[in-house]
Amino acid sequence: MGFEEVTGHVNAGAFAGWMRYRFPMNRRSVLHLAAGASGLAALPTIAQESQAKSFRFLFATDIHVQPERGAGDGWKQCIAKMNAVAAAASTKADFLITGGDLIMDALEVGIDRARLEWTLFDEGLKTLALPAYHTIGNHDVVGWSSKAVVDPGHQDYGKKLFADRYGEGKTYRSFDHGGWHFVLLDSIGRNATTGDYEGRIDDDQLAWLEADLAKAGKETPVVLVSHIPFYSVWHQVVKGPSFALDGKALVANVFEFRKLLESHNVKLVLSGHGHVLEKIELGKTRYIQGGAVSGMWWKGPVHGNPEGFGVIECKPDGSFDFAYESFDWKVRA
Ligand SMILES: [Zn+2]
Repeated sequence: MGFEEVTGHVNAGAFAGWMRYRFPMNRRSVLHLAAGASGLAALPTIAQESQAKSFRFLFATDIHVQPERGAGDGWKQCIAKMNAVAAAASTKADFLITGGDLIMDALEVGIDRARLEWTLFDEGLKTLALPAYHTIGNHDVVGWSSKAVVDPGHQDYGKKLFADRYGEGKTYRSFDHGGWHFVLLDSIGRNATTGDYEGRIDDDQLAWLEADLAKAGKETPVVLVSHIPFYSVWHQVVKGPSFALDGKALVANVFEFRKLLESHNVKLVLSGHGHVLEKIELGKTRYIQGGAVSGMWWKGPVHGNPEGFGVIECKPDGSFDFAYESFDWKVRA
């Protein structure tokens, strides 16, 4: 196999990405290979390469950092455990995805309090040894509540703070890794009547999602992340089968765009919001609500599930494994 065969399979950008993945990239190696060195002859094709590798990532949701109950220390303790997991040979992980509700609350507090919570979140994040991609949660949005105290004209009102600091200017986006496609959704809609948040993927985002999934292709395994779950049976478990949910518990309009998801290879939908560990399998897709870093807002485990995070191994055949890791948090008063 020669250089021409490799470039015949992929565009130049993908090739450069593959090269970075396979070798620590430096200018000399680029020039050497670009000159058509015969060293490439022994390397596998791109297809063989992508089929041969599994990778892992971590999923930490509902962190709810606050000054009380040692939550800042708890976040750091969680990160120390995530760093250890990501560095160990048997569980090596490439990146972290957070699932929203990164801070205790920005919906119903003053801007100084919200900024204090973000500072505590950042202090922990500085100790993280791997790249992180952040998903927005309802509690990360400033003032979208009937009990809001921040003026809608304030520069930090709404989603701007999150977008600027944690979303590269956006509240939803996507990226590729190891042959898989990852989509971080913004599931925080707004009820125009009450002024409260509600679970919803808005029309602009749905148009973007349709184009984004089309670009990824129908065969590519996809992981969607949505702070508010698409489905959950938990409320029925604890409140009975006839309990009716309000618009805050689930994404209200999934029913309307489920055919879009069904027409792609969506393997996993990760969410948070309910702080429970729940796995639902419908057709080819598994919906996992990933527990909570904060447990019951730093007051203890939720229905026996400890404070922790998910470790997901994505395999070359498009399957994956999910494991939940505790970081042994001891509740403080
Ligand atoms: Zn939430």
